[in-house]
Amino acid sequence: MRRPAIGSHYDPDDGDTIQDRARIVNDLARPAPAAPPMVARDWALFLDLDGTLLDIAARPDLVQAPRGLARCLTGLADALSGRLAVVSGRRVEVIERLLAPYRPAAAGLHGAEYRMHPGGALERVPAPSGLIEARRRFRAMAMRLPGTLLEDKGLCLALHFRTAPDLAGKVGAAVERFRRRLPPAFEVIGAKMAYELRPRGLHKGLALQRFMALAGWRGARPVFVGDDRTDEDGFACARALGGIAIGVGTEPAGACFRLADPASVRDWLARSLTNFAEDR
Ligand SMILES: [Mg+2]
Repeated sequence: MRRPAIGSHYDPDDGDTIQDRARIVNDLARPAPAAPPMVARDWALFLDLDGTLLDIAARPDLVQAPRGLARCLTGLADALSGRLAVVSGRRVEVIERLLAPYRPAAAGLHGAEYRMHPGGALERVPAPSGLIEARRRFRAMAMRLPGTLLEDKGLCLALHFRTAPDLAGKVGAAVERFRRRLPPAFEVIGAKMAYELRPRGLHKGLALQRFMALAGWRGARPVFVGDDRTDEDGFACARALGGIAIGVGTEPAGACFRLADPASVRDWLARSLTNFAEDR
């Protein structure tokens, strides 16, 4: 079903069913999500990548950063005395390639890889035992689901079905069977049109805590911006430290404020940077 973006035009003659129209009217009747305040100098800003900073594409390898984003992030990181980190399920090297020439502090693979300082050493948590067998079985499951796309990130594997949304039920059932036989050292978490195998206990909240323990970050107000279930641990940890959770779209629970989509996130960041420049 077509869901209207916030502020988009709804044409009642474009083929929706009566039920679709009723749902669309309900969507439009909901109170608009509160927009967040502008970024403040005492913040430590944690930004998810896909679906938050960058628009989601049909396949993860087709995602691109829009012009001007690297410059905006560089300016914001300066204004925040370096307290800006990208926290993603992607590998750190992929985060860096997508955001080049901006060099972020970053946590990748849900907190399994870290670049604590831009240009610093890449740190990796050790792989749990049983990884090879868990990977083999996840890959075998993907092979039995033609139309899905397997993204191999080493320590984590993601199974995408964005290009075949009609497979959602079949993929969900296969993942459920896989989960029942998964060793406790691993978990499968649902993301947007994807499921991800990862070592249990890794999550974006841990990444936030690790940055917040650094000199220069300690005492700042953590603000986490994210768009799906894998960001909810980041939200919870930010709020537990007196910070703010900002959801993108409607999905992640526990948000204090919401922005409609990645374009709105980029616009909010750009306007915050302009505010900083005018304050100087
Ligand atoms: Mg995301």
